Amino acid sequence: MVYLCLLVNEKRIIRRSKPVAGSCSRCSSGASVAEMETVMRFCCIPFYWKSWKAIVCTFCGAFLKSYR
Ligand SMILES: [Zn+2]
Repeated sequence: MVYLCLLVNEKRIIRRSKPVAGSCSRCSSGASVAEMETVMRFCCIPFYWKSWKAIVCTFCGAFLKSYR
């Protein structure tokens, strides 16, 4: 059996973000609370997605905290 479509990819999109009190543990830049969206695609067809919130660093993009 040959599997032609093993191209599952996951994409994270930041839909919106706003500054929040706190700083990054890596670079000490400002943190912001972001509305994230994860989209899983299988051969270019989105089959799963969810939105969630996370605290991310605006400078280096590190995830400081996530709410799932
Ligand atoms: Zn940072």
